[in-house]
Amino acid sequence: MSATYRAALRASLLYLLVSIAWLQLSAHLLSSFFDSSEALQRWQLINGYAWVVFSAGLIFLARARLFHSVGIGARLRERSEDRQRLRQAAAVFDCTREGVLVTDSNGLIVHVNRAFMEITGYPCEEVLGQRPNMFKSGHHPPDFYQAMFATLNSVGEWSGEIWNRRKCGEIYPQWQTIRIIHDDQGRLSQYVAVFSDISAIKNSEHELKHLAHHDPLTDLPNRLLFTDRTEQALASAQIHKRGCALLLIDLDHFKMINDSLGHTIGDQLLKAVAERLQALFGQEITLARLGGDEFAVLAENCPQLMQAAALAQRIIDDFRQPFLIDGHQLFINTSIGISLFPGDALSAEQLLRNADSALFKAKGAGRDGYALYTEELTAHAQQRVATAVELRRALEQQELRVYYQPVHDLRTRRLVGVEALVRWEHPQRGLVSPAEFIPIAERTGLIAQIDAWVMQQACQQMCQWLQAGVALSFVAVNVSSRLFARRELFQQVAKILHETGLDPACLELEVTESAVMEDPEVALEQMHRMRELGVRLAIDDFGTGYSSLLRLKRLPVQKLKIDQGFVAGLPWDEDDAAIVRVIIALAQSMGMQVHAEGIEQVEQAGFLLEHGCDLGQGYWFGRPVPAGQLDWMRMPEIR
Ligand code: C2E
Ligand code: MG
Ligand code: MG
Repeated sequence: MSATYRAALRASLLYLLVSIAWLQLSAHLLSSFFDSSEALQRWQLINGYAWVVFSAGLIFLARARLFHSVGIGARLRERSEDRQRLRQAAAVFDCTREGVLVTDSNGLIVHVNRAFMEITGYPCEEVLGQRPNMFKSGHHPPDFYQAMFATLNSVGEWSGEIWNRRKCGEIYPQWQTIRIIHDDQGRLSQYVAVFSDISAIKNSEHELKHLAHHDPLTDLPNRLLFTDRTEQALASAQIHKRGCALLLIDLDHFKMINDSLGHTIGDQLLKAVAERLQALFGQEITLARLGGDEFAVLAENCPQLMQAAALAQRIIDDFRQPFLIDGHQLFINTSIGISLFPGDALSAEQLLRNADSALFKAKGAGRDGYALYTEELTAHAQQRVATAVELRRALEQQELRVYYQPVHDLRTRRLVGVEALVRWEHPQRGLVSPAEFIPIAERTGLIAQIDAWVMQQACQQMCQWLQAGVALSFVAVNVSSRLFARRELFQQVAKILHETGLDPACLELEVTESAVMEDPEVALEQMHRMRELGVRLAIDDFGTGYSSLLRLKRLPVQKLKIDQGFVAGLPWDEDDAAIVRVIIALAQSMGMQVHAEGIEQVEQAGFLLEHGCDLGQGYWFGRPVPAGQLDWMRMPEIR
């Protein structure tokens, strides 16, 4: 039976009783209590009492204490406007979403409202006459209640968060205000508690806190929480004289998966990586996703360098197993940077920074491996910074040179083209290899200037050769992958061709596979624009990247350059031989020329010629040399 229904029932009953009483009431009663038209009586009910106001034709029932509780403090003797106010107050009391509980001066519950019953789950007959401590959750210590009553008694009011128990046993938080009500004589007559259920607010607060500290994709701690936990772990390690290791894990070529298979697959892979790392170490470690494809592991009890290295090796080995995502079998390697506490750093921030330097080293060493942060590494980093400064100066001082390496037609053996390769003539160190300074130039942004300068020199040189009657079909220039994604490249090439007057068909741009695959859409657009200009395009170091054949087919490329890594093993290494044969067949099927680099032996040239490779380049034909030292007439015997 609902409380409302019961209240209605009780009202009807009262109406009946009152009607009878009305008839019996004497004029004496009327005059002694009120004016001629009104009468007030207190009626004892089964579980309490009610004030009954009699007036001509109107019966109004009210729980007097209730009126006190909502602060109306109305006096029922007042006139009809007051009765109107009382009715309003009763409606407010009943409709308010806050739970209201009233006790008498002895602390026994005398009133509760509808919201109270809804929030607590208790019907009113189960609580009336009871003490509010029946809702205690056990969440607060005794001194919490002592303090609460102390405030109540001294100030007359207490507000705060309190955890109570619902009828179903659930503990939940309330925001509660308790106030003391005094009677006309100033004596304590009641306690009124008004409260709201704040569990929803608490939950969203908790959720917000979780969101601020976790990565939404993998639900792993984010950088903020990881740094915080690392700081705590270091403090504890310091006390217990323990060693810790921080491993920074980066997925190799993750971007390519994202680009070729889409972000949904990329996201699923990141989740799978998180799960695999967690499964690998369980609770032994703290795992976090710092952003993108970068994860971090904190091993709290890792006293020795070799233990940290073993952890890294476990990850690398485990990642040899492919990930199965949405029907795709994905192979992804990792590079790991390791930094140790207390040997390498004493703070979380420094530990992270050092692990990052080590990661850089691991990537530089060919990826799919780990590196440790050591003093030696710091020195290496410092050396790089110094080189960057010097390189800037070298550009101003014109210390860069362009060397040219001959490219021969394998069938005719004639020199048909050259590749322009930059060199740095360092005043103290002598000739510095681009392998040393190009990566630094790429990171510092100097590469744009270097490549533009080399291209300008090469085009100018080519014009001079052609004017001198040299039968040369192309000059090849390397374009850094950093520049290839930039739209300015096209304007730059057009400008240089215009300034030098070189026939665009004589200029070949070499781009690496990774440059193309990093951002295939931009690359495709760039390539089409270059083709419109009339320049030739070649893919350099082919076979070392992750080209998708489908994408390759769409590219307006005229040439594939087989990476020297595959040529080195020819003709005896069966794997290299097989790969080279496949690349040649692939290029031919797509109507592209094939160009092998790194030919150092006649047998290599022989194998390549035999299998249909068009062009050859390498020390066996000629090393890179200054323009004036090229031997145009050289036609080495291949068989
Ligand atoms: P790459 O474009 O693949 O150039 C071929 C590299 O192989 C050159 O190294 C060349 O000297 C070397 N090489 C040629 N024949 C042989 C051989 O028979 N055996 C061996 N072991 N090596 C051979 P280099 O000149 O040191 O250049 C290294 C890389 O630096 C180049 O690789 C290219 O990626 C980059 N690079 C060179 N010049 C430039 C440039 O002007 N701009 C840009 N962005 N990159 C450049
Ligand atoms: Mg090249
Ligand atoms: Mg190459």
